[in-house]
Amino acid sequence: MLKRTNMCGEPRPEMIGQPLTLCGWVNSYRDHGTGLIFVDLRDRSGLCQIVFDTEDASQDLLDAADKLRNEDVVAVRGTLRERAGGPNPKLDTGEVELVVETLEVLNKTQTPPFLPDENQYDLPNEEVRLKHRFIDLRRERMQRILATRHRVTKLTRDFFDAEGFLEIETPNLCKSTPEGARDFLAPSRHQPGMWYALPQSPQLFKQLLMVAGCDRYLQIPRCFRDEDPRADRQAEFTQIDLEMSFVEREDVMEIMERFVRALWKGILGVDVAPMDRMTYREAMDRYGIDRPDRRFGLELVDISDLAAETDFKVFTGALDKPRGVVKAIRVPGGAATLTRKLTDGYTEWVKQFGAGGVPVAKFSGEGETGGFETGVARFIAPIAAKLVERLGLEPGDTVLFGADSYAVATKALGELRLKVARDLGLIDTSTWDFLWVVDFPMFEHDPADGRFYALHHPFTAPTPEETERFMSMDAADIDGVESVVSAGYDVICNGSEIGGGSIRIHDQRVQEKVFDLLGLSRAEAASKFSFLLEALRFGAPPHGGIAFGLDRLVMLLEGTDNIRDVIAFPKTQTGADLLIGAPSPVDPAQLAELHVRAVEPTKG
Ligand code: ASP
Repeated sequence: MLKRTNMCGEPRPEMIGQPLTLCGWVNSYRDHGTGLIFVDLRDRSGLCQIVFDTEDASQDLLDAADKLRNEDVVAVRGTLRERAGGPNPKLDTGEVELVVETLEVLNKTQTPPFLPDENQYDLPNEEVRLKHRFIDLRRERMQRILATRHRVTKLTRDFFDAEGFLEIETPNLCKSTPEGARDFLAPSRHQPGMWYALPQSPQLFKQLLMVAGCDRYLQIPRCFRDEDPRADRQAEFTQIDLEMSFVEREDVMEIMERFVRALWKGILGVDVAPMDRMTYREAMDRYGIDRPDRRFGLELVDISDLAAETDFKVFTGALDKPRGVVKAIRVPGGAATLTRKLTDGYTEWVKQFGAGGVPVAKFSGEGETGGFETGVARFIAPIAAKLVERLGLEPGDTVLFGADSYAVATKALGELRLKVARDLGLIDTSTWDFLWVVDFPMFEHDPADGRFYALHHPFTAPTPEETERFMSMDAADIDGVESVVSAGYDVICNGSEIGGGSIRIHDQRVQEKVFDLLGLSRAEAASKFSFLLEALRFGAPPHGGIAFGLDRLVMLLEGTDNIRDVIAFPKTQTGADLLIGAPSPVDPAQLAELHVRAVEPTKG
């Protein structure tokens, strides 16, 4: 086999006259009948034009060239020259071409199901591409994303190595860690009826590593969460996972902020501004979500006090509910942009969040109903002037209202805010808006089952100021328990959560108290977490950490909203790997060996 001297993307004018050997795939083939046959040869570094000169080349060489088809794998040796037909500014190698003297066909291809060059050919649908992922990944864009992903992990390792972190692996066959999703399970052959859980995160192992004196831990682990399909999630995903000893919240946030800056600088050359902080409460009040996208306005404004002055049943009914609120969003210029079709659609759309609808009013500044028109104008006429002032309304604006319990109104309007921004193209995609969200509640109370759930995970500590109050708390005091602030933090970029973590509980009594409030009996807590409780008794240092979602980071850095683009071999939304055909049935003998029997769901 010809020995490669260069990658296809490397030839440059200063190499003219040199003999080079390139290897790669035939990306395109052009014979214009002008005495020259052109082939673009491709490898992961790019394309180089290679030329067969019909006057100088031997007949054998020309015959072989004539048989070349797209995606054949070849090696060529030749001499580099200035591109005869003038430079091609679209290619890095566009000023030169290789005149072929020797062609070695390394592997002929069958006709491929599609050609991996979206600049020349239409791509088939994603299903076809995933089924033939080995061809799809040949695309320039996919190769670039894989390279970016590599650079992100390399930069991560280098950055944290310089900060004294050790990369330590934790098991994949382990025991359930409560990160709030279903576990993937693997049966034990040696212990009939026993199961391993695949890690939802290495959370408890990294904490144990701190108890073990490892001081600073890094891992880029695969995590497994059997969640219901969602477009932007994969059941198997990768984290950048960290933990540090002898730290407080500020220490973790400081180093992580530096890391994010180094990442954006290193990958994109972008200087990230110092990150703002926002409390969870403020994020929910103003944006209706704990990961605010601040690249556009449309903030939620509480108008409950004004709404109480009206006779509008939708408002007063909501205010009569426990924790009832009325909130409003001002859409500047909405009278012209928010069509009736859109607003009617919103009323239906918010129902998925439990809201009854979206009352709408346009503000013209004129007329009898205090300048409001359409929709609920006459109901809000009595509070018109105050509303105009509170929302800063200008003629031509539209107001969208949400009236319900705080939880429902906030959620619905928070989601609606994002939808309106997308519908009206209000999002400034040229900015990077980073911020920390802090001061989360430790617990959420679910009225459906009357239980508390940990908002982050149950190993998150209350803030030091809150710890004493927390320890004296009783589960019956719902408001009290819900008001305890945790030492958790999330880092948000453009409305997407890219990382989240917390200072952990290192005092076994506090950990037991959390289990108590979560309704875990002492026996249950012992059976699930005795190892943790024991470790906390034997010299656990104060510690805390964070995990970043690697897939999400690469998506942001590469500007894609398809998570499958950033994973070499992803699964579809239904968890299928179309390339290898997983999941798949197994031999009954294998199941018998594992002491497992499959029960098919009954149809109907
Ligand atoms: N284990 C957490 C998660 O996966 C992150 C952390 O608390 O460090 O979200």
